[in-house]
Amino acid sequence: MLVKEVVMSGWGGMLRGRTFALSYEGKIIEKGIPRGLGRSYGDASFCEGGYTWLMPPRRALLKWEGSLFIAEAGMSFYEVIQKVLPQGWFPAVVPGTQFVTLGGAFASNIHGKNHHRDGSFADHVEWIELRLPNGELRHLTPQDELFWATAGGLGLTGIIEVVALRLRRVPSSYILHEVRRARDWDELLSTLETEEIRFPYAVAWIDHTHQRNRGIIHLGRFSEKGAFRLRPSPRVGLSFTLPFSLINRFSAELIAASYWAIHKAGTRETSYADFFFPLDRVKGWNRLWGRKGFVQFHFIVPQASSLERLWSHLRNSPARSFLTVLKRLGFQRGPLAFSGPGWSLAIDLPASVEVGKFLIRLADMVAEEGGRIYLTKDSLLQPEQAQAMYPAWESFRQLKAYIDPEGRLRSNLSKRLRLTE
Ligand SMILES: Cc1cc2nc3c(=O)[nH]c(=O)nc-3n(C[C@H](O)[C@H](O)[C@H](O)COP(=O)(O)OP(=O)(O)OC[C@H]3O[C@@H](n4cnc5c(N)ncnc54)[C@H](O)[C@@H]3O)c2cc1C
Repeated sequence: MLVKEVVMSGWGGMLRGRTFALSYEGKIIEKGIPRGLGRSYGDASFCEGGYTWLMPPRRALLKWEGSLFIAEAGMSFYEVIQKVLPQGWFPAVVPGTQFVTLGGAFASNIHGKNHHRDGSFADHVEWIELRLPNGELRHLTPQDELFWATAGGLGLTGIIEVVALRLRRVPSSYILHEVRRARDWDELLSTLETEEIRFPYAVAWIDHTHQRNRGIIHLGRFSEKGAFRLRPSPRVGLSFTLPFSLINRFSAELIAASYWAIHKAGTRETSYADFFFPLDRVKGWNRLWGRKGFVQFHFIVPQASSLERLWSHLRNSPARSFLTVLKRLGFQRGPLAFSGPGWSLAIDLPASVEVGKFLIRLADMVAEEGGRIYLTKDSLLQPEQAQAMYPAWESFRQLKAYIDPEGRLRSNLSKRLRLTE
């Protein structure tokens, strides 16, 4: 067993910790946390001073019969799609990048651009195999309480070894993609609200750099026309972290203005890769923020009026963002479920002391409005804030204490938020 002491971080690069990394081989002996492809933004996927079990080496396709696809949890969406799309299948829920493992997707119970219609990832999972901290391997279905505690449980209930996923039939690898431009806030929200009834996929971008709250709305459904054409893994990108950030007020404004300019209203056929995973075109794009990294502040609030209040505060943030994602989400099950019917907004900002202070204050406002911060993206929450946002926090802690009395599974996030010691 090769153990390497390394400094690890999440995708945002702001939080780091020294940990012992080793490949997961079916045993949880010491204290630590599993890690997929490290696409969670903060500190959920490493354990400082403990072990971090790397999942990707275990990623075989075990069985595929009709729509049921059974694979080892280290398999990524990229690998799933490369196998199933040429045969006319696609995962029912995908995140904004293909480079997420099935285990990581379940552990965050991720949502896609179709959450308003199709729910979260775990809603399309028939069963999982979970290695409990005591070494027992459990077969769990949606009838089990532990299934839902593991969905969104951020690796704290056990290590997911196998995922049995229900795929969906698709007629091509292209999306009939409608782009709408909204010139102000009301138009943006009302278009999303009305069009999500017609379109299975709906998401918007708001221009954080512009005076008026203009935005681009992307609507889509799989196209009946066209072939099944796969997109290979991206080759262009940043292979090292820059000592300084390329993202500042000026470059953020430039990128946002270009994004607005190239997205003309109209309908087009767009490859699944460009529609679902636009950021994957540039490998290692997170390194653009340099050594200090960046923070993604991703919240959900039930009411549009709350969203408007929070956005008006975000307009005064210490830095500008070119990356904002607005979605409407539906109900989600599980004690650490992020989603509930409401508006979800994600915004990327450069890491700095001012931005951190500003976002911690904003997190209080999210709680006041009855909202939540998405834990898999979080880098800043205080324990009291997280508890106020997640009503079933205590029942999750109790269940965790019951199945993991020695507290073997723990991450920097679970320690920071006092979910574990
Ligand atoms: C560009 C980008 C776009 C994204 N878009 C979306 C989106 O649209 N919707 C959304 O919901 N999320 C989105 N995310 C977040 C991402 O989907 C989640 O953070 C996901 O959990 C990352 O999976 P991973 O394999 O990289 O896991 P990691 O980041 O390595 O780990 C995430 C969590 O899962 C746990 N975990 C990993 N593997 C296992 C396992 N086998 N068993 C038990 N626990 C495990 C880890 O302990 C950790 O707590 C996005 C992230 C990026 C970078």
